[in-house]
Amino acid sequence: MASQYDDLIPRLKALAHPARLRILDILRGGEVCVCHLETALGRRQAYVSQQLMVLREAGLVEVRKDGQQVYYRLVDDLTASLLAAALGPTGNTGPEPLAGCPCPCCTLARAEVLARPDRPAHQGDRTTC
Ligand SMILES: [Zn+2]
Repeated sequence: MASQYDDLIPRLKALAHPARLRILDILRGGEVCVCHLETALGRRQAYVSQQLMVLREAGLVEVRKDGQQVYYRLVDDLTASLLAAALGPTGNTGPEPLAGCPCPCCTLARAEVLARPDRPAHQGDRTTC
């Protein structure tokens, strides 16, 4: 078998799970921390970390630590293209702030809304959490 097929197998296996698809769909909007993914999925950290480990081992995401926070981002262009074909384009406006999410991104977004109620929280040049 040609290696081009072999290269696709780990990606397609990693994609073949609803929680991992949801995580990757969120990461298409930009880097987010683990607690943001926990809030978005409504699942505990152990479950989210298990799914993120599968995505890391497949080479689809990378991790970055900043103090207490652990951030993930999508790094595989082919996966981004596959997601765009399957799910449609993303708005590139950054991760959507979530109600009740304790992550720094959502906390900052809520503070911006409180400070300037006439302005949508994710408008602007911020593309990462
Ligand atoms: Zn958040």
